[in-house]
Amino acid sequence: MIPLMIPDLPNTSDLIPWLKQIDENKWYSNYGPLSKQFESEIVELVKCENPGNHPDLRMVSTSSGTSALEVALSAYRLRPGSKVLLPSLTFPATATAVIRCGLIPVFTDVDPNTWLLTPEIADEIIQKSNADVVIPVSAYGVKVPEKQWQRFAQKHQCKVLIDSAGAFPGQVAIEGVDITYSFHATKCLGIGEGGGILSVDNAFINTCREVTNFGFSNGSIHTAGLNAKLSEYHAAVGLCQIRRFRSTMLGRIKLRNTYIENLCDNTVGIQFQTGQSAISPTLFVVSVPNRARECAAELSSQGIGVRQWYCPPVHLHKAFESYLRNLSLKFGDLSVSEFLGESLIGLPFHPFLTHQQIQAVTDALIDVAGNKLDAPYRASIGGSVTAG
Ligand SMILES: *Cc1c(COP(=O)(O)O)cnc(C)c1O
Repeated sequence: MIPLMIPDLPNTSDLIPWLKQIDENKWYSNYGPLSKQFESEIVELVKCENPGNHPDLRMVSTSSGTSALEVALSAYRLRPGSKVLLPSLTFPATATAVIRCGLIPVFTDVDPNTWLLTPEIADEIIQKSNADVVIPVSAYGVKVPEKQWQRFAQKHQCKVLIDSAGAFPGQVAIEGVDITYSFHATKCLGIGEGGGILSVDNAFINTCREVTNFGFSNGSIHTAGLNAKLSEYHAAVGLCQIRRFRSTMLGRIKLRNTYIENLCDNTVGIQFQTGQSAISPTLFVVSVPNRARECAAELSSQGIGVRQWYCPPVHLHKAFESYLRNLSLKFGDLSVSEFLGESLIGLPFHPFLTHQQIQAVTDALIDVAGNKLDAPYRASIGGSVTAG
């Protein structure tokens, strides 16, 4: 059995010095010293990883990546029923956050090579739908270009909020572009549950902070908020994780590179997401065009943990049907997302994988993907594989 994921969190002995600080502080939530330190250390790490000058970058910690999205959307203080553009190929939380904030999701397709929403795709739809916010998603850890989205925000006078839940620390907030991260146990910097909103807009950050605490501002509620605060215990795990981050990240990058080496010369049609060089590897997902289901079933039956991450794309889930009808979208309208929904497979990805196990996974995948391919098709796809 080769598991799909094994979280890599600090052990008890590494945590003890941080927990002792909590004992001494007797401060457990509501922006205690550890969550404040966690926020400033995350900001420093993100600055360090993203070249450029970011003097105004700030962060509000939250209880999860999903609550980070809800807090940020609430803090924009939009009219109820305002429209929000988002790619259908994403984790469902991107869409549930929109709906739970009283806003209307407008699902868009993605680019067939990068599997991301691009400003070009959004351009046409924002004019038709009159949306106030766009949420590009750093799908599978691949970075979206902040500068391009900044120009988009200026052109359309809209907000851009990047859901970079799984792309820590590769995405940075710049003027006009805010971002969210997740620190869920399975993400690049896992702390159990946690998240953050990063922005260079000081007033927005202050509103986000209030929204994480029910919306209280000097004792009265200005924006209906929620309880989305990060506890001191989670911040303790976070501070511990930051100290292990470089080595865990190197491990993830090596793992990703080994997968690519093993698969890049395949002649059975397995393809990669382009943009892999700008990736914070949380997952490793490949495309086996139109055959993900059968390949995933076969690999599972061989004891290999796989998952069709983000599949089916969000607009095909029951909960979002009525929003499709509103927009007069139907099955087939988001054809790239629907095609990818039948094509993408996440392979085992965690630091405890051995070289032998990765080899076993890639051998099995090549075997399974090649199984039912007839010779002419095999010849037609040979050599068409790119690693981005
Ligand atoms: C993981 C993830 C989320 C949810 O983050 P949580 O911390 O689990 O709430 C949201 N969006 C994307 C794209 C994700 O990958």
